[in-house]
Amino acid sequence: MKELGIKKLTTNEELKGLIEKDLPFPVRGTYGCNTSCVEIRDGKENILCDAGTGLRDFGNYVLQSSSQMKSAQPHTFHIFISHLHWDHIQGFPFFVPAYMPGNHVHIYGFYHELEQAFVRQQDPPYFPVPLKGMKASITFTMLEQGHEYEIAGFKVRGIKQNHPGDSYGYRFEKGGKSIVYSTDSEHQKDADNEDYPFLNFFRNADVLIFDAQYPLVDAIHMKENWGHSSNLVGVELSVKANVKRLCIFHTEPTCDDETLHQFLEDTRRYLQIYAESSPLDIDLAYDGLEIEV
Ligand SMILES: [Zn+2]
Ligand SMILES: [Zn+2]
Repeated sequence: MKELGIKKLTTNEELKGLIEKDLPFPVRGTYGCNTSCVEIRDGKENILCDAGTGLRDFGNYVLQSSSQMKSAQPHTFHIFISHLHWDHIQGFPFFVPAYMPGNHVHIYGFYHELEQAFVRQQDPPYFPVPLKGMKASITFTMLEQGHEYEIAGFKVRGIKQNHPGDSYGYRFEKGGKSIVYSTDSEHQKDADNEDYPFLNFFRNADVLIFDAQYPLVDAIHMKENWGHSSNLVGVELSVKANVKRLCIFHTEPTCDDETLHQFLEDTRRYLQIYAESSPLDIDLAYDGLEIEV
């Protein structure tokens, strides 16, 4: 831990500065424990990736902002689902804006069972309110791989990923900027090939949100075929694909804050070994992290 010394703090700003600049992240905050839900904010309509438990906080944030702005305008949400494992859809029953008439929720995915999965998780005895009891208009749209879609002002395409039961990554592009959301995806030996399809999918992304649940040793020896990747593969693919910012995501839920912080430091150190002059920035996702693109 950095030596703080004795410092006399006389203003709130000085105190805030000390907390934000001098204290290590696990001391001043926490990475949190919500499951997958990422907002891509641009314009009026809301783009989201996955509907894990983070969707509950997001819904509350939307309601709070509307009440602060005294706005009764209806909202439109576009939610892109990576796959139907429970940690990626379980926030939806707690998404308050979906209960409000006038709001629109569009849910996209690559699975025939997409709508059924959302219906079933709110059927008795799992939840007291069925999906059709939610008062917003809720639609489900099946996407196809290989197509590029124009949704809420973004160009959107998907890629099939290696995960039990498959999963899909998404690439969003607008105004020369690009964000890739690629979670629950295992990269194996073919990731070393020059024509590995993910290199193209990640190419020049401003931000790559990347599943790195395990350190490399676990990923290779104990957890091969579990459907997740390592931080080191994330660094290597990011450098090869000229990604600007790598955001480590879907980290191991049994890790405490100190362990995750060390995981981030190790990942940054590996970048220096693997590609010393690379300008790649690396973050580890925490609840509420905002990245400007
Ligand atoms: Zn999964
Ligand atoms: Zn998952």
